Amino acid sequence: MRETDVLIVGAGPAGIALSIYLKRAGTDFLLLEKGAPGGKLLEVASIENYPGFPGGSGTDLALLMNEQLTRLEIEPVQDELRTLERREDGLFLAHGEREDYLSRVAVIATGLTNAPAIPGEKAFLHRGVSYCATCDGPLYKGKDVALIGHGERALEEALYLAPLAHSLTLVLDGREEEGPLLAGLRSRENVQVLRGKPLRIEGEDSVSSLLVETEGQERRLSVSAVFPLSGTKSATAFLSPLPLRLENGFIPVDKTLMSEIPGLFAIGDVRVSPLRQAVTAASDGALCSSSVRSYLRKAR
Ligand SMILES: Cc1cc2nc3c(=O)[nH]c(=O)nc-3n(C[C@H](O)[C@H](O)[C@H](O)COP(=O)(O)OP(=O)(O)OC[C@H]3O[C@@H](n4cnc5c(N)ncnc54)[C@H](O)[C@@H]3O)c2cc1C
Repeated sequence: MRETDVLIVGAGPAGIALSIYLKRAGTDFLLLEKGAPGGKLLEVASIENYPGFPGGSGTDLALLMNEQLTRLEIEPVQDELRTLERREDGLFLAHGEREDYLSRVAVIATGLTNAPAIPGEKAFLHRGVSYCATCDGPLYKGKDVALIGHGERALEEALYLAPLAHSLTLVLDGREEEGPLLAGLRSRENVQVLRGKPLRIEGEDSVSSLLVETEGQERRLSVSAVFPLSGTKSATAFLSPLPLRLENGFIPVDKTLMSEIPGLFAIGDVRVSPLRQAVTAASDGALCSSSVRSYLRKAR
């Protein structure tokens, strides 16, 4: 079993930023990552809104972050967190796929996961299929696009997309009560709202249509992009042994980024937040470093 003061789970922009700050402050920590450091950045075709990085692929930005880790002699531990418990003495016991870890503080920085569910979704990823309207919406300015989902996040992403697109079809694939967000969308001339089920994303080199079943009939929508948001979830399954209340799967935190469980923090996309971007994830990492150090000081 490895012991540390701070266990950070996830080496996306949030976990990387936190590691940089903790390392420079001389705090003892381990950074756990199940895949490659960089997180979701490795899936982003183009980033143009990260300060100091005027443009390039997400992989380019992730490589720069990795370079910084190397320069600071931070080596992420390759392991996947399976379950996280809090022992009676208040320490966190994390069971990884390879090893177990004992820490005084645990920081969850595991972001989001996508479970592709619609035929064609995987095949057209980055060729018209995107999981982030706030990020990739501007690439489809003036085009006909569709967004599939339900719930607040999907409606907010649709509201962002609507003024950019020539037309937006919102396919509601779950129960959605009428409310102000939906009313705001319905009031726009270029938005149509369908209740139904996506059947297939189609195209040749890139997306050209979406087949949906609505009101008992099949309809083929001619679109250049599809944003399938229903399969996007927070990566929090390993938290199930903890008595932690989640909001739609996301971790609620206070202004110090600590959850309702003392010593358990959440940063980046995995926490309840109005915006999920690389810059907000990195900002969470920086802020969390001071919260974690203050927590450790008080707990000693
Ligand atoms: C298509 C797309 C385009 C985007 N474009 C932009 C953009 O233009 N600008 C922008 O600012 N943002 C953009 N984003 C959003 C940005 O990528 C995310 O907001 C950011 O990466 C979130 O950082 P994070 O550190 O919170 O999580 P992530 O980047 O998701 O990193 C989480 C890390 O945790 C690891 N992990 C998960 N579970 C475990 C586990 N159990 N054990 C160990 N490790 C685990 C994952 O492997 C991953 O490396 C885009 C996202 C997408 C999907």
